[in-house]
Amino acid sequence: MIKHFTIPVFVPELACPFQCVFCDQRKISGTLKAPSLTEVNDLITKYLETLPEENAQIEIGFFGGNFTGIPPTEQRSFLAVAQKYVDSGQVSSIRLSTRPDYISDEVLKLLKEFSVKTIELGAQSMDDGVLIKSGRGHTVQDIVDASTLIHKYGFNLGLQMMIGLPGDSLAKSLYSAKQIVELNPIDVRIYPTLVIKGTELASLFREKKYVPLSLNEAVLWTKEIYRIFETASINIIRVGLHPSEELTNSKSLIDGPYHPSFRELVLSSLWKDRFEERFEFKRNKSIIIYVAPTELNYAIGYNSSNKSFLEQKFEAVKIKIDQKLFNYSFYADCY
Ligand code: SF4
Repeated sequence: MIKHFTIPVFVPELACPFQCVFCDQRKISGTLKAPSLTEVNDLITKYLETLPEENAQIEIGFFGGNFTGIPPTEQRSFLAVAQKYVDSGQVSSIRLSTRPDYISDEVLKLLKEFSVKTIELGAQSMDDGVLIKSGRGHTVQDIVDASTLIHKYGFNLGLQMMIGLPGDSLAKSLYSAKQIVELNPIDVRIYPTLVIKGTELASLFREKKYVPLSLNEAVLWTKEIYRIFETASINIIRVGLHPSEELTNSKSLIDGPYHPSFRELVLSSLWKDRFEERFEFKRNKSIIIYVAPTELNYAIGYNSSNKSFLEQKFEAVKIKIDQKLFNYSFYADCY
């Protein structure tokens, strides 16, 4: 089976003139300045040493800022470093993230000079009110226009959305997810909004003008959004922020639904729902549930939460792997 890997290159705040209320890019990326071309090259080389050479599809991803807002000569320099690895056959393609209002014919023509395959837009919300309150500086129409143009040029589209932004609600987030599906992305990321030190959101939080989602709310919202994207067969490549030392070991994180295993919490909760939907609970019966190998941990639940839940309903519970199963298919023997 082919495994996919992305070598992440963070290019923070290089060109971003915006100040989204939630963003202190340097703290989140754990990087204080843009990397030099030599640093980018070294990072890619080192990363490649850790990846398998066979059965691996590797891409280089430029993340962390507003890549297409960088002066074109600098974009070309960064991309040329990555391109070298594509040309040598060590890497298959390049991806990058940017803002929806920094996509144009000119921008996309430049990216076409290189092996850029996927362009990821920080959409964050498909509600103009939420975008305004979050200081995004672009509109929903910008997201739609940029997505359409990206498709027109034959790139893959990735979209990021955030939940719990100022002015957001569960209904607005579900609406955003459905609108994102309409834009036909190949993959999505879902990030719960966190209150990071030094951001506008931190001030709003201190002034009690912003209340972050609780962890339970964030799991519940994300679970519903997850279902929407899965039903549309859109690949969900990230749920929740990557635990970085900067975020967890320092005082950068002020509040908000951060959890190092956020995705696991969401998937555990989805499995709990499946069990509740399917089983008639019988206290005098034992049960063995068979799931796909990739789903075993989520079916058992974070800290065995689902197993503990089922143990309250059945005499004895075992959750095992059946190699023939995939995705969310499962069956059970009750005895
Ligand atoms: S556009 Fe991106 S990098 Fe710029 S402030 Fe907003 S989130 Fe941060």
